[in-house]
Amino acid sequence: MEEHYINTCLICMKPVDNYEPEYCCNGHECGCRGYPTNPCVCSRECDDALYDDIGLTMDQRRIKAGIDLYQQPNKQGD
Ligand SMILES: [Zn+2]
Ligand SMILES: [Zn+2]
Repeated sequence: MEEHYINTCLICMKPVDNYEPEYCCNGHECGCRGYPTNPCVCSRECDDALYDDIGLTMDQRRIKAGIDLYQQPNKQGD
């Protein structure tokens, strides 16, 4: 059975529909801490922003990199 997950970019929240997390291990005594080794980002820009300032929040990194937060298209019209 195949399931299709839609994930969102960690930086700008844009949907990333072809993201497949790759894990190193369950994080036991390992630097990966059980997180995916390929963070979910939508673009090279967001990837760079993600690694730019470890210690800042995702929002702060996004703003510093000058990336706009993704706006959901309004499906209902107005
Ligand atoms: Zn993004
Ligand atoms: Zn690991």
